[in-house]
Amino acid sequence: MDQETVLVVTPHPDDSESAAGGTIARWCAEGKRVVLVVCTDGSKGTGDRSIVPADLAKTREKETLNAAKVYGLAEVVFLRLPDQALEDTEEFREKIVRQIRTHRPDIVLSIEPNRPYIRHRDHVMAGRVTLDAVFPYARDHLAFPEHLAEGLEPHKVEDIWIYRAEEPDTFVDVTDYFEARQNALHSHVSQVGERTDERDERSKKRLTEAGAKMGVGMAEQFKRIKMNR
Ligand SMILES: [Zn+2]
Repeated sequence: MDQETVLVVTPHPDDSESAAGGTIARWCAEGKRVVLVVCTDGSKGTGDRSIVPADLAKTREKETLNAAKVYGLAEVVFLRLPDQALEDTEEFREKIVRQIRTHRPDIVLSIEPNRPYIRHRDHVMAGRVTLDAVFPYARDHLAFPEHLAEGLEPHKVEDIWIYRAEEPDTFVDVTDYFEARQNALHSHVSQVGERTDERDERSKKRLTEAGAKMGVGMAEQFKRIKMNR
């Protein structure tokens, strides 16, 4: 069988790690080709008034690359859009469509766009724009037709996974990938601090609760959408 490709979209550098790190680690270990698309530069993610946003953006790219090494990601794409400024624009949509047409994923893993009430606007926008990019834009040759001239053919994604899902229906056993998940997550030192026993215990508790729903040690949960062809 051909190697499967997964395109992971994360609004901020650490979102995919905290919600799906065990699954990403598992997929990499299983031989899937996993490409990470980081939408924003994460330059507003601090409470420290002495940190300059441009420096923070650089730090966060380094942290993301460290996490990528833990997993063995195939590639990391930094879109470098400004933090807290994602909008549902043609420009942003084109960037995601371009990544889908470039990497031609079997699976797109992205964030829940429909969380009610308290939600990060960047998460809403990244989630919505990614779903729109999958269908119909990446599929239709008349959407961003300039891509054709660059040799980027339309691409149909058949399998969409949503992390931080409001209504999860799919569980992945990540019991054997806890170490990798924690190491990847704590690569984002500026956001979640160094790895400690206490932090491990907190993660374990959350993953164990999800695991109990499917009768395994630890799990991550998703909403899965199979596209009807
Ligand atoms: Zn975020």
